[in-house]
Amino acid sequence: MPDAHESGYSKADLKKIDSVFSVLEDKAQAYLDKPDLARLSEAALFGQEAHKGQYRDTGAPYFTHPLEVTCLLADMRLDTESLITALLHDTVEDCGVSLHTLSEKFGDNVSQLVDGVTKLTRIELQSIDTKQAENFRKLVVAMGKDIRVLLVKLADRTHNMRTLSGISAHEKRERIATETMEIFAPLAERMGITQFQHELEDLSFDILQPEMRQSIMTRLEFLTSENKNTIPDIQRILADVIFKGGIECDVAGRLKTSYSIWRKMQTKNITMEQLSDVMAFRVIVDDDAACYIALGLIHQAFPMVMGRFKDYISTPKRNGYRSVHTGVLGPMNRKIEIQIRTPEMHDIAQRGVAAHWDYKARQTDALQPRQAEGFRWVRELISLLELNTGPQEFLEHTKMEMYADQVFCFTPRGDLIGLPKGATPIDFAYAVHSKIGDRCVGVFINEKRRQLATELENGDQVKIITDPAAKPRSEWEEFVVTGRAKSSIRRFIRVEKQIEFSRIGKALLEREYRFRKVTFAEQHIADSVIAFGISKPEELYALMADGSRHPRDVFERLHPEMATGRKPAVSGSLSKEQPLFSISGADEGMAVQLGKCCHPLPGDKIIGIITTGKGVTVHTKNCSILTKFVEIPELWLEVDWPRGEGRRYAGRIKAIILNEPGALAALCTVIGQQAGNITHIQLTERSLNFFTFQVDIDVKDIEHIHSIIAVLRSNKYIESVSRRSL
Ligand code: MN
Repeated sequence: MPDAHESGYSKADLKKIDSVFSVLEDKAQAYLDKPDLARLSEAALFGQEAHKGQYRDTGAPYFTHPLEVTCLLADMRLDTESLITALLHDTVEDCGVSLHTLSEKFGDNVSQLVDGVTKLTRIELQSIDTKQAENFRKLVVAMGKDIRVLLVKLADRTHNMRTLSGISAHEKRERIATETMEIFAPLAERMGITQFQHELEDLSFDILQPEMRQSIMTRLEFLTSENKNTIPDIQRILADVIFKGGIECDVAGRLKTSYSIWRKMQTKNITMEQLSDVMAFRVIVDDDAACYIALGLIHQAFPMVMGRFKDYISTPKRNGYRSVHTGVLGPMNRKIEIQIRTPEMHDIAQRGVAAHWDYKARQTDALQPRQAEGFRWVRELISLLELNTGPQEFLEHTKMEMYADQVFCFTPRGDLIGLPKGATPIDFAYAVHSKIGDRCVGVFINEKRRQLATELENGDQVKIITDPAAKPRSEWEEFVVTGRAKSSIRRFIRVEKQIEFSRIGKALLEREYRFRKVTFAEQHIADSVIAFGISKPEELYALMADGSRHPRDVFERLHPEMATGRKPAVSGSLSKEQPLFSISGADEGMAVQLGKCCHPLPGDKIIGIITTGKGVTVHTKNCSILTKFVEIPELWLEVDWPRGEGRRYAGRIKAIILNEPGALAALCTVIGQQAGNITHIQLTERSLNFFTFQVDIDVKDIEHIHSIIAVLRSNKYIESVSRRSL
């Protein structure tokens, strides 16, 4: 450690820190140049200073932890920025160091990497079930945009697991171990870093299944007690067999870990007593061809155990792993497992993604096709093909493509919901439950009230506000992205529309009956609909509302004895009629629409016009568009406003104001004070002294807009105001 006399650490602490730092230095010196080593020392001093006075649960000075984490990454020969990130990975969360400071001192990349690690540290798995764990893994990957964030996080977790005994609370240890087993070990596996994977699995297994581990250990002791030198002996015999066949090799043997044995017992469904296959041997030979020759030599010498042979050289695993596996009844009649591979395959098996980066650093030319093929998963993970950059930039620019098109958000209970990118709270609500989607009226995202069209981001906590009386709105369709939300909204609107259509159609037919002075005969209609090729009166009504059948024809088919063949003159009696129908449910996209030309408000005298295929459009009685329909009285429909329903309608005004500072503000203020909500404002004309604005205001009814207009007219900035229609 460089000089640290003003550190404020005790001498004993400094010695502990120094000893880890010198280990790190040795590892880093093996592959980093002088300037990089100097940056590393600088970061170490900074980190030490930041963690001053902090201690680990184990009692060690805190800074030994980042140093150990960095050592793990130096073993993997990661780049300088990764190492510096590891040294500083807890400074933002635990020491209040700002990202700004980090980027000033160590560059933007380091500060972004530390930020990534910090964010990963903050999210915590709340409930463990398989689906949750899968989503959580995806969230972790999606948040670690730069693959180095994940490598640092894995190293951090590995060291934390090694020192977990320092935590006294059993529950906390179990939670961390579960999270490690469910999230981080599988992540290490997928990244091909078996070194981390196996250690994480074994350390978690010790905590999660202590009794099981103990009984496996006991069985292992029993199996190995007969001959203490079993492993070295078998090692020698295997090496001999291969060497005599003319192949140079290295053979290493080990006892399998308790976790891998337990996993095998689970998947193969075998009992402790049947457990015999506990030793694994690794044979390392020079090249691919030698792997197969060595395999042949072993199979000649020892009988093969059926079902154990696997060729991951010709068909690599998705994470890039390559080797030949076999199982034989080996020397001393012991069932053993053998993996045969080249040194390069071995390195990749240990270091996964990190090794891949390293190979890229050493070779200037592209990867051999076969090796590249083996890394298909890595390539899904990182957009390698687009990168013609040098090795230093390889990891830096590798983005996790895999889940780039997804976001993962939490429910208030902590469940994780996976959604496509661009998803909104409505999508989230429907993903939780269709009832929640149907009744959604608002949302809190990370405890802030937000709009329903807000795009969700990874890690957002989403709380949907529901109202049992609420209904899906057709405009949601414009921004939802999931099929589930889309189809739910459409289905709902289709049903609503159908109900509206049949309500309108029934009103039309009733009018026809009144005109003919015949009592409306529902039962007769129900009995006769078969003749129209449909099954329910509602369907018949809907046909009239959408204009595909005329009420007169329907009436005359229902009552052939009254057929006249002449066109009834409905229009004359129209104004004396009772309103047929109140227009509640007048939502956009539904069967009833308010005219965009005249913006009718409750209180306005209104009339409905039947539009083929669309239902009814409501206009004010003085709307100029009505002149088009004078000749077609059968399209006219008397309608009325619903009473006391409390919803708001769009009203439109035209305001001419003075070209003076404060005039537009005055216009908006008055409308606001009168409890009108401006939804749209547009400058339509400007002259030297006056501006003309068209303002859309959500109001309760015609009284409301009239009072707004009256107050506006009294304002000194406002020249004139009128209700606007076409
Ligand atoms: Mn840490």
